[in-house]
This record gives sequence, structure tokens and C-alpha cells, in this order.
Amino acid sequence: MSYVFSPPAPVAVPVAGGGQFPVHRVYCVGRNYAEHAVEMGHTGREPPFFFLKPADTVLPVAEGELGAMPYPTLTQNLHHEVELVVALGAGGRDVSPEQAQQLIWGYAVGLDMTRRDLQNDMKKQGRPWCIGKGFEHSAPIGPIQPRTRTGDITRGAITLDVNGERRQTGDIADLIWNVAETIAALSRAWTLAPGDLIYTGTPAGVGAVVPGDVLHATIDGVGSLRLRIDPAQR
Ligand code: MN
Repeated sequence: MSYVFSPPAPVAVPVAGGGQFPVHRVYCVGRNYAEHAVEMGHTGREPPFFFLKPADTVLPVAEGELGAMPYPTLTQNLHHEVELVVALGAGGRDVSPEQAQQLIWGYAVGLDMTRRDLQNDMKKQGRPWCIGKGFEHSAPIGPIQPRTRTGDITRGAITLDVNGERRQTGDIADLIWNVAETIAALSRAWTLAPGDLIYTGTPAGVGAVVPGDVLHATIDGVGSLRLRIDPAQR
């Protein structure tokens, strides 16, 4: 193949215990915990909805490491959203929730970092969320834990601390649309493929971070993710 320039290296996330998980697409679920939906001004009973981040927005943080995310451009209100990330090892279309469980390769702790001021501007104007959601380094993720080790993750505490203070807390059991239902719904709209990551939504307590802050996210049975917000680059 004679490419006109060198293609970028594939985006990959370290797997706990060794190996790399190659990323295909990054799907995200909006308002998937009732309390967060309410804090964002909704009833919490809407059907699931989705947005995507480009694969190269993924910011892998290896086991035991402190990741670093440069403060992004254009925003005065960078928000944290701690989320369970589901990593697919197989694809499909129109899968049932029962079949969906078999597509899961593993799980990780992730952060759906959001330029909330830009997202809110876009919402008001009925415009796409891309500028608020799909920017560089906006998808930090810890190591992927193989499902063969963790079993199916259907409950367990999910937390986020900023500088040692608890900001977000919830339980995976409180997802409005559980992981299997989410995968099934996604598979009706897109053709799912091995390497897809799904950020499954955030519990209540989202808020702003600034350069120098250290975030510590945990999910019972999955692991943790530590991330420092660095000053803006450029
Ligand atoms: Mn989110």
C-alpha cells in the first residue's frame, strides 16, 4: 500500500496483566444515572442517547501511574465525569441484551472530560456537542481489565475524588440503561466492532477542575485511574 503520508499508529489502551487493546470507536451514553439527569435538568426517564469521541481523544493511563491531561483550549469550565467503560472484543448488529454480554472483552475506569460551557452553548443553539466533548485528551482511561478476570460488572461503587475530596459517587447498579441494554441499543444504530469502547454515563456530582488538580476515580471490581490536570499547552 502506498500511502501518501505515514498513517498514525493505532490508538491502544494497556490491558491489566499485559498486552494492548486496540481502539476502534469511542461511544458515550448521555444521562444514564437518574440523579445526574436531574442535575442536568431532565426527568431521568428519557430513552438512551449517544455521542462519539474520535478514537485519538483516548488518553491511556497505565496501571499505578498518574496520567496528565493538558487543560484544553476555549473553555473556562472543564468538567469531570467518571464512567464505567466497556471494551468490546466482538462486534454485531441488532444484538439482544443477552447476546450483548458476550461482546464484552473487558472493563475500565474512564473520564468523559467535558468543556461544559461549550457543550451548553451548543445545546442552547441546537448544535452538535462535538466541540464540548470530542477534543484531544478528552477520554482518559485506566487499564482494561479482562472480563475473564472481573466477571460481568453489574453493580459496585463508582467514585471520583478531586484533591482527596469526594465529588461524585454512585453505583453501577443505578444505571438507567444497564450495560447490556446500552450495547443492544447502540447495535441498532451502528455496527459494533471489536475495539469499540463505550463510556456508559456518569453519576451525579459533575463539576469543574483546574490545572494542578489531581483526580482519582475508582470502580469496585474494575480498578482506579489517577489523572493530573496540567496547564494549557501552546
Ligand atoms: Mn458522560
